[in-house]
This record gives sequence, structure tokens and C-alpha cells, in this order.
Amino acid sequence: MSLTAALAYARHGIPVLPVHTPARGGVCSCGKGSRCDHPGKHPLLRHGLHDASTDPEQITLWWTRWPRANVGLRTGVVMDVADVDSAEGWHGFRHLLRDEIPAGPQVRTGRGGRHLWFRPTGFGNRVGLLPGLDWRGAGGYVLAPPSRHASGVDYSWIRRPGPGLPAGPAALLALIEGPAPPRGRRVVAHPDRYAEVALESETDRVARAPVGARNDTLNRAAFALGRFVGAGLLDAPTVRRELTWAARCAGLGPTEIRGTLRSGLTAGIRQPFDNRGGAAA
Ligand SMILES: [Zn+2]
Repeated sequence: MSLTAALAYARHGIPVLPVHTPARGGVCSCGKGSRCDHPGKHPLLRHGLHDASTDPEQITLWWTRWPRANVGLRTGVVMDVADVDSAEGWHGFRHLLRDEIPAGPQVRTGRGGRHLWFRPTGFGNRVGLLPGLDWRGAGGYVLAPPSRHASGVDYSWIRRPGPGLPAGPAALLALIEGPAPPRGRRVVAHPDRYAEVALESETDRVARAPVGARNDTLNRAAFALGRFVGAGLLDAPTVRRELTWAARCAGLGPTEIRGTLRSGLTAGIRQPFDNRGGAAA
């Protein structure tokens, strides 16, 4: 049944990936058993969603090996998904859209939330758009029917996909495009106003970078902020932490983030910013 569904998603161009399954009692099928933090929600494949495929032969092989695998769908290709995981999230979502919920596909999730499918926005994942509302875009995935949640409840369709998907409503897009949410006080070793503004605007740029420009944007930001680090106006761990967080918001993977950060920062530090005007020679 999972295989049939997985093949149907793939026929519509959605890359599919097999995901661990919760057994009776919500225990994950991975080796961690009851110690697993995300029972039935993490990929069975080594490279996770980067291995997702639309190839029916590959998909058939996976589900022959793991017939009860949950069905993960890569987002940002055919659809992006608004992930509403609580009553508070649903209230906030309806309020945001003034109760005009587009008539696109909707999934009832295993823990009683909803997934609403939209045309891809080009943006990456956003966690906490509103309390109880996340966005799954480029670089993300969602579980789809008939996956089973650790609660024992299956994901099911509230409204099945028809021809075409609705575009994200303007109010929702504005929220996705908006500045990244604040995350507490930033620790800046040398609180120079100019360096602080640069840190804020560069992280924001990275978090909002569209697919295709993410790595380049991160590289430029790391270089620009590295110059402040070289001048002693920002500290490297802060820059690394903030840019990593922003790049994850944009949907970049950890390996790519580490590599780009290292080269961009190193190059920037070698050309320290000179606050008497311009770059030091
Ligand atoms: Zn697990």
C-alpha cells in the first residue's frame, strides 16, 4: 500500500524517500528504539532527502526492502507545504489568511495537525513562521499518506490533490519572505554598531536566499563578515553560529554549510575591514 502510494507521488514528479516507521507502542524502526528523538520521521537512506527519487524501479527496490516504510516527499520541487501542528497554529494560519484557506490538497497528520500543499515558492524551510506553523520548502520533506505516526494514527487526506496547486496567498508569502525571527540577544565581542548591522543584514540575506543563489549568498556573507572578524569587530564563533542558523533556514545541508563558511570566513579574515575607511591593503 505504501509502495502504490509512493509510485503515484513519483508519477506526479514528487521525489520520494523511504522513512523509518513507528511500530506498536510508537517505537521507531531504527536501532535506537524508544530512545529515538523522531520516531517514524527520519529517513532510512544514508543521505536522507538528497537520495529522494522519482524513478519507479528505485522506489520499488526500496519498498521491497522496507515494505512498511513511511512515505517521505521532498518539498520545494512540485509543492511546498504549510505544516500546521497545533490548534494554535491552525488558528494563527486562518487569522493570517482572514479565513480564506485556498482549496488545495490538505493532509491530516498523525498527531492531528494539517499539511497544506502549495506551489513551490523557491524558499527554503522556515521554522516557527507563527507558533505552531512551519514552512517546508526547498531542502525539506514531509510525510504523506498512508504514513503512520508514532501515535499509531495514519496520515490521511482531508482533500486529495487535484489538477494544479494553489499559489501561496500573499500574506503567507510575506511572512515567509519576511526577516528571520529574532532569536535572543546576540553576543558581540566588540559591540561596534556597523559590524552589528552587517551581521544582522547578512544573516537575513542568507536566510532569505532563493534556491540557486543560497551557496553563493552564504559565501559572500561569510567573506563580508570575515573581514569584520579579521578587524576584531566581530567574533568568529558568533558569525559561524548566526550564518549556520540562517543557512539552515534557507535549506542548505550541514556539510555544504560547513565548507562554504570555512572558505568564505578564511578569505574575509585575510582582508580585514579597516574602520578608518575601506579595506586594509
Ligand atoms: Zn528512529
